[in-house]
Parts: sequence; C-alpha cells; structure tokens
Amino acid sequence: MNKKTVADVDVQGMRVLVRVDFNVPLDSQRRVADDTRIRAALPTIQHLRRNGAAVILASHLGRPKGQPNLNYSLRPVAEHLQRLLGAPVGFAPDCVGEEARALAGSLRPGDVLLLENVRFHPEEEANDPDFARRLASLADIFVNDAFGAAHRAHASTAGVAVHLPAVAGFLMEKEIRALSALLSPERPFVAIVGGAKISDKLTVLRRLLDRVDRLAIGGGMANTFLRALGYETGKSLVQEEMIPAAEDLISRAREEDKEILLPVDVVVGDFFLEDADHKVVAVNAIPSDWIVLDIGPLTVRRYSEAVSDARTVFWNGPMGVAEWPNFARGTEGMARALAACPGFTVVGGGDSVAALERTGLADRIGHVSTGGGASLEFLEGRELPGVACLQDREG
Ligand code: ADP
Ligand code: MG
Repeated sequence: MNKKTVADVDVQGMRVLVRVDFNVPLDSQRRVADDTRIRAALPTIQHLRRNGAAVILASHLGRPKGQPNLNYSLRPVAEHLQRLLGAPVGFAPDCVGEEARALAGSLRPGDVLLLENVRFHPEEEANDPDFARRLASLADIFVNDAFGAAHRAHASTAGVAVHLPAVAGFLMEKEIRALSALLSPERPFVAIVGGAKISDKLTVLRRLLDRVDRLAIGGGMANTFLRALGYETGKSLVQEEMIPAAEDLISRAREEDKEILLPVDVVVGDFFLEDADHKVVAVNAIPSDWIVLDIGPLTVRRYSEAVSDARTVFWNGPMGVAEWPNFARGTEGMARALAACPGFTVVGGGDSVAALERTGLADRIGHVSTGGGASLEFLEGRELPGVACLQDREG
C-alpha cells in the first residue's frame, strides 16, 4: 500500500482524530446489536493508546439527515466501547463546539473520547470547509480507519485532511491490501455477484468482467439475466429496462472468452414471504405466478465447482433472499464453497457479510470487507476520497 499508516508516525503526546465506522445496528433498547465494526477498529485505537496518543473518535450512525436525533446517538457505542477496552471512554454530546473542544483538550495520553454523530450537522455530508476545520481543530493528526465510509467525500472522511497530517489506520490498510490483490489477481479469478438489483452493480459487473476468468450471477439480478436469455421469470423481481445491459454483458463475456455462469435451476416461492410455499424448478419451467427467491441446488453445485480451483475469489451479494431460511440455501452453499476454496477469498457487501456471519464460516474466508459500497467502488477502479486524502509513503 502506498499510503502512510498510523505505524509510520510518532503519536506520543499527540491528540489524534480517528474517523471510524461505528455505523452499527442498535436493538430496540438502543444497545449495540452487532459490534463487528467496533471490534474492527480496536487495533488502531489500542496502538494509539499504547503509543501515548489521546484518541478522539468520530463516526456517523445511520441517516439523521443533518439534525440531532436521539435514535442515532453514538452514546450507546461509547458505553459498548468502554466495555471492550476495559477503560473509560468519554463522550462529547456534539462533535464540534466548546464542549467538544474542552473535552478533547483535557485528554491525557491513552485517553479515549467519542464524539457524537458527525451527521447531526448537514455540513458533514456537504464537506463544508469551515466545519472540517472546526473538527480538525480538536486534534494534531488525522487517522482514517473508516474504510466503509471512504467512498464518501465528507468533512470527517476527507475534509479534515486539508488541515491535519493524515494517515491510514490498520483496518483501512488491511482493506486496501486485500482489495488491491483483486486488482492484480492470481488466476483463475472468479467473481460471484448477487443481491437485489443489477442497476446497483452494473459498473462493477462490467469492470469485473474485464478481470475475471469466470463470473457467476445469483440473487434478484440473475432474473434480469434469465430474461435476457429468453426465459420467463413469473412474478420475480426483474429490471426490464436493464435487460439490454444484461444481454450486453453476456455477449461481451462470449466475445472475450470468459465464462459467465447463470442459474440453471432456482427456488421459487408462491409469495414474497418468509413462509411462502417453495419448490425447486429448472429455469425453463418457472411457473408464471411464482417468484424466484434463490438459486437451486444444481446451480450451487456448478458455481461451487467454478470456485473450487480458483486462486482468487470475490463474492458480493446474496444468492437469494438469505434473510429467510427457506431461501438461504444458495447463499449458504456458496459460503461453504468459498470456505473450502484454497485460494484467496474476499467477501464484501452489508447483506452478504451478514449472511456469511450467520453460516459461521466467516473465519474461513481470506478477507471479510467491512465496506459494501466502498469495496465495490474500489473494484470499479475508482479513487476513494477517504483514501486519496491520505499522505503517500515516501520513496
Ligand atoms: P449487499 O448488501 O451484500 O451488497 P445487496 O444489498 O445488493 O447485497 O442485496 C441484498 C438484498 O437482495 C437482500 O435484501 C436480499 O433479500 C435481496 N435478494 C436476493 N435475492 C433476491 C431475489 N431473488 N429476489 C428479491 N430480492 C432478492
Ligand atoms: Mg445491501
């Protein structure tokens, strides 16, 4: 990686502003329901504390639309982080202003302060220069460890770097290393893409097709491809306007001698419901009033074979409605295939990672990305603002 990291700078006695991705799910009592993202930031936080820095953490949570909103407060995260660290974590009820300044100013080496949700200010997402300056004024150095937000040019992800020396945190470094390996992959390189809509992922599909040896399609978007091949898909989710784009991808794959794998069988349900009646059918026998909700067992076997000898695998997007057990088999099957693959495997995407975690196989995957949109934009070859703003390594 060509960016400086937190290991390259002397932080002794410094106040360090760390942008983390603490955008975690909260339960009905506003307790942290899944702390994966918080734990992912611990190596950077602990490194800074051990090396004598005072740590000021900034994050967003949800979409409060530029206004203070208790439902999106990071206070429960401060409490959770305190338990994880076994050390006090201060909390500033506003990320800028007098109180934040006073709290940040009183920190001693090793202390930790979490700032309230940066998105309580509309200036955050607008990357307002004055707001960025005020946020930056709390610290001496900026560390970006929020890979999941690095595709956004916001005040706390990029704007503050105008005012402070800026380096990558360890999570950021790990993400960039892993995803960079997909830009110059060992072959065969296989990508598996699913999820709801083809429109969300068309650019990344095109870019992946340039680099992969095999591309396997599942999830709701596979229906649009099936239509492009002339199959009827009943009442399934289909993006009619994207059928030409799907046709184009299929013909490009053929021209470039790449394998594009599409479902040969699917699991259909009679309603879009968790407990819908369900059955496996071949793709040429989808009943007109049923809905495709997962890939079928024969398809899982074919896709698994495509992965078995891969040296590199990237997977984004569930193969079906994996939130519902009856329609999660395809996704579970692919999780097993990746877990068994001896090559370097990467899984990205919010819903994909959640489904992977449910299978208990996440620790057998080479890299589980904490960034959905960010990982896709990275693979599209785009420069991420939250990475571009960091200092380059010398030499
Ligand atoms: P990720 O968050 O991993 O990038 P997406 O957000 O693109 O994935 O897609 C996940 C969503 O796609 C899930 O809510 C899932 O229920 C939905 N989905 C998957 N397969 C289908 C299908 N056949 N029909 C409708 N929705 C689907
Ligand atoms: Mg999603």
